[in-house]
Formats: sequence, structure tokens, C-alpha cells
Amino acid sequence: MKPRSGSASAPEEMPVAELRPRFWERHRLSDLTHGEWEALCDGCGRCCLNKLEDEDSGALAFTRVSCRLLDGESCRCSNYPDRKRYVPECVVLTPANLAQHAYWMPSNCAYRLLYEGHELPQWHPLITGRADSTHEAGFSVQGWCVSEASLSEEDWEDYIIEDL
Ligand code: SF4
Ligand code: SF4
Repeated sequence: MKPRSGSASAPEEMPVAELRPRFWERHRLSDLTHGEWEALCDGCGRCCLNKLEDEDSGALAFTRVSCRLLDGESCRCSNYPDRKRYVPECVVLTPANLAQHAYWMPSNCAYRLLYEGHELPQWHPLITGRADSTHEAGFSVQGWCVSEASLSEEDWEDYIIEDL
């Protein structure tokens, strides 16, 4: 198994933006404003968990080892604007590259759900109006991820979890 980062974007916090009502249902992803696109993130932090790739089959396994920039409490990136400088492999998810990445995103990820034609879940912050609702619904990594900063890469296999 070899490490495969390929984490995506978990903004620092719900952005303050002009959001059109139910924009995720009424507009194509490619027509969203930057603020709307960012607001789709449910703040789960799951895409910021490191993965291991089977060198023969290419299959990916999620671990509960998180990127060093992920804040394990808030489940947000601690340096979102400048993250590529510290984590070059971090994927900046956009409408243009979503098709390329949706397959490995966690199954609860709002970007993946919309890309696959599903609705947002009832616990999504855009539905509840509260950023904490992702944690309350048990979909975030709050309290159970371990930072890669505190582990050797050789130990990641001990932290493999079921597919997300
Ligand atoms: S998995 Fe999706 S919804 Fe969750 S933090 Fe990552 S980009 Fe946001
Ligand atoms: S730099 Fe790390 S914590 Fe920040 S968005 Fe990328 S994978 Fe997540």
C-alpha cells in the first residue's frame, strides 16, 4: 500500500456570501458563484483524510489519518487560502474537475452527491442553517481523526477505515 493524498477542499468556515435561494437545486454547478460553490462544502473534513492505494489494483482505502493542516475539532482547513503552499497535493475542487475526482470523494460529500444527481441530505448546513449540523449528524471527522503530524507514514495501515 502506498500513501495517496489527493485530499480536497474543506474551507475554513461557512463563507459570508450572497447565496441565491436553493441555488444548489435551481442552477447548474458550473453556473454557481464562487461563494455558492464554497458554501456547498458541508465541513465534514472527510476528504482531508489520507488514503492508501493498493499498488496492484489501484483500489483506495481511507484512513482516519488526517492532513496536517486539518483542524480535528472544527474539521476545517487551518490555512485554506494558502494551503497549496504547504500541501501541494491538495486538490482544489472546481466544477471543471469534479468529474475527475467525484469517484473518490466521501459518499456524503455535497459535491459528489450533486454531481451524481442526488439531493443534499437534511443535515446539510445549507438546509439546517447551522454549520454544526454536520457534526451533530455524525458525518464529520470531529474527534476521531488523527493528524499525520503525529504519526509515521508506515503506521497509516493501522488506521484504515471502511469506505466513506
Ligand atoms: S468531503 Fe466534500 S463536503 Fe466534506 S469537507 Fe470535503 S469537500 Fe467539503
Ligand atoms: S490542505 Fe489539507 S486540510 Fe487543507 S483542504 Fe487540503 S487536504 Fe484539507
